[in-house]
Amino acid sequence: MNIRVMKFGGTSLATIDHIIFASKKIINMTRNSKVIVVLSAMAGSTNSLVNQIKKINTLDSSESDLVLATGEQISCGLMSIYLNKEGIKSRTWTAWQVPIYTNNEYGKARIENIPKENILESFKYYDVAIVTGFQGISKENKITTLGRGGSDTTAVAMAAAFHAEQCDIFTDVEGVFTANPSIVPNAKKIDYITYEEMLEMASLGAKVLQTRSVELAMKYNITIQVLSSQIDKEGTFVVNDNKKMEKEVVSGISFSKDEAKVTVSGLLDKPGVSAGIFGSLAEANINVDMIVQNISQDGKTANVTFTLPQSELKKAVEVLEKIKNKINFQSLKTDEKVAKVSAIGMGMRSQAGVATKMFRVLGEKNINIQAISTSEIKISVLIDQDYTELAVRSLHSIYGLDI
Ligand code: ADP
Ligand code: ASP
Ligand code: MG
Repeated sequence: MNIRVMKFGGTSLATIDHIIFASKKIINMTRNSKVIVVLSAMAGSTNSLVNQIKKINTLDSSESDLVLATGEQISCGLMSIYLNKEGIKSRTWTAWQVPIYTNNEYGKARIENIPKENILESFKYYDVAIVTGFQGISKENKITTLGRGGSDTTAVAMAAAFHAEQCDIFTDVEGVFTANPSIVPNAKKIDYITYEEMLEMASLGAKVLQTRSVELAMKYNITIQVLSSQIDKEGTFVVNDNKKMEKEVVSGISFSKDEAKVTVSGLLDKPGVSAGIFGSLAEANINVDMIVQNISQDGKTANVTFTLPQSELKKAVEVLEKIKNKINFQSLKTDEKVAKVSAIGMGMRSQAGVATKMFRVLGEKNINIQAISTSEIKISVLIDQDYTELAVRSLHSIYGLDI
């Protein structure tokens, strides 16, 4: 059986007209395949559910997930009503009906297993299975959600479970661009990008795909195509390293304003201090990213600066205040007005001077670098958030990515 997986994001389902437009693409596909459609909630719907919950309490309970998961149910139902009216045999599937089993981490659950039998059986009678993205069912038999942007992950997981070779992700841009096109007007669409590059771009701030979806695609060797829901045109193919012949030194620039910086000052410069700080943060499940350490001129004390997601800052400060007496530091400073800007490219592995170019252009623009981190295929710098757009555009241009 030939099965296609098509996912539509919230902006592509913003109104009934959008839903009808998307449905027509699905109708075309039913001519030669059975289709699994994965839908997000209509644009803005998940945000307004988040706001409702926040009027009562924080998001961190399993009951929040029940609320958040409702948006997807509406878009799926509306699309199925339209398809059936047009004479296309379609039926809807919520996560518990499929079922999409996840772990119990409400709000950021991971998919563990998707039995195929129910949907396969339904394909005897129906041509389209419309599945709610973003949600799952936990071992405790409760609704979970997969984290914001999670419908991408649902779609790739469905492609993996049903052995589809490709997963088409329809969205409001024509593909993955060399930088966020709403910030960099000169950005261009990338035709092919490797899993590794896409993984870095997504985790460093390009929210066009949820990071987990790229991890899954890489694991199960599924080609993702990111393409426009409005224009009929090939999009970007996210593929294996060996399918992409040309390895640009820098393929794209990402940025994230969701970072926070913490500086712990006046630490005694002796063995075990870093272990004390970062061990305690790790125990609290806090992910630290960039780390810089410097020693005072008299050589006796040290300062440690690190970054972490803004959402974890409050928890991190609580952890550090608790161990203040144990590790003996003088002061703690935090800063949320920072941004992480990154250049990503497979070709960096074999090319020197990429970092120098970055530091030079930021220097010329008078942008101060507060921290640096690198991997084989990316360089990230932390800067003042006010300079984000300037930095992204300058780097995009210096690495020859402008149209
Ligand atoms: P959907 O609702 O379809 O899931 P998203 O808003 O999650 O759409 O993702 C698409 C958006 O991602 C684009 O509108 C764009 O603003 C943003 N984006 C950020 N970085 C990039 C990039 N490098 N290439 C393309 N889009 C990007
Ligand atoms: N509706 C969810 C969100 O807005 C999931 C998704 O759209 O992928 O994050
Ligand atoms: Mg999305």
